[in-house]
Amino acid sequence: MRLDALLSRYGYCSRREAPGWIKRHSITSGGSACANPADKVQAEDVLIDGEPVEFPEGLYAALHKPAGYTCSHDEEEGDVIYDLLPFQWRHRNPAVSSVGRLDKETSGLLLITDDGKFIHRMTSPRHHVAKVYEAATEQDIPAEAVELFAAGTLTLEGERHPCAPARLEILEPRRALLTLTEGKYHQVRRMLAAVGAPVASLRRVSIGRLKLEDLNLEPGAWTPIRPDMI
Ligand code: URA
Repeated sequence: MRLDALLSRYGYCSRREAPGWIKRHSITSGGSACANPADKVQAEDVLIDGEPVEFPEGLYAALHKPAGYTCSHDEEEGDVIYDLLPFQWRHRNPAVSSVGRLDKETSGLLLITDDGKFIHRMTSPRHHVAKVYEAATEQDIPAEAVELFAAGTLTLEGERHPCAPARLEILEPRRALLTLTEGKYHQVRRMLAAVGAPVASLRRVSIGRLKLEDLNLEPGAWTPIRPDMI
């Protein structure tokens, strides 16, 4: 691909900015200096200021989302998850986004990618990727909720279809794990509220086989992953 297309694809600068940007940086391809926006290059061969191009094959990362951050590209929303990620990622094309969303006050495992097919595979209910949430509640969780959620018959207010069968494991009177394979708006909060146990705090602890605790990430930290880890 052309050097200016590469710089824009991986978020360094726009194609329009490329001529000036190239002058201000040291770029090599296979060891030879590149100074022309039209130079033909391959991402794997390019060094920019001595560093390889990040994630040339597509970007996949796991973020430990802290509570208080919004899954939005809109800076007007206050603290957004993209503030926690390298600045350049926001300008990649295709753009980087979260795989589904967590509510502002929910913490835990959030995947970040620039691969639209991966997002679809992870979020479509048809693919049954299990997401496990740990909830602390304001009231005791009734034991009957286990069967109700497993039956797949609970229809939340304002929804046309019932929630898909979900596994509820009550760990303590006011603490439980809930496993979902779909992602309706505020689903965990609404399901637990529907059985009289509103959520006090919520954390996503795993997605498929990928567990937050195995990643050793402090809140706000991220790490690269491979899609086959899910
Ligand atoms: N369910 C919720 O209620 N909130 C989330 O952030 C995720 C699932």
